[in-house]
Amino acid sequence: MSAKPLLTGGCQCGAVRYALSAVPLRVTLCHCRMCQKASGAPFASLAEIAKNSFAWTRGKPSAFRSSSIAERDFCAKCGTPLSYRRIEGDSIEIMTGTFDRPDRLVPTLQFGTESRLGWVGSIAALPSKTTMQNYGPEKIAQVFSYQHPDHD
Ligand SMILES: [Zn+2]
Ligand SMILES: [Zn+2]
Repeated sequence: MSAKPLLTGGCQCGAVRYALSAVPLRVTLCHCRMCQKASGAPFASLAEIAKNSFAWTRGKPSAFRSSSIAERDFCAKCGTPLSYRRIEGDSIEIMTGTFDRPDRLVPTLQFGTESRLGWVGSIAALPSKTTMQNYGPEKIAQVFSYQHPDHD
């Protein structure tokens, strides 16, 4: 991958990084029970990328074979879930929260809706605070992040 990548990302600790040379084929949400468990979250958000437009650029993830047809990659050092991947497939689906610019990955379709939790549709109406409002400036000044920055 010689040209400047279109999009980059990686795990929370930075041991595993990746780059894309083409825009994702599609971005989806998946509410299925396996994506809930694998993401540790109410649903997964995944960007599907052709394998020939994708490369791991630092480190290599570990994989868990979650079914007879698929594996899920994750960072063995920090535990960040990174992908869903069909063993026989020619694409990889990357968890959009791991992109350096997650705002660029806008979902257009939902799967696994038989397991979609009833409250998901109404989160925008919940009471809301920014991190600064939640912690306050004094407390937040004492916190140092060990998360890898959102760039290579
Ligand atoms: Zn990591
Ligand atoms: Zn799923």
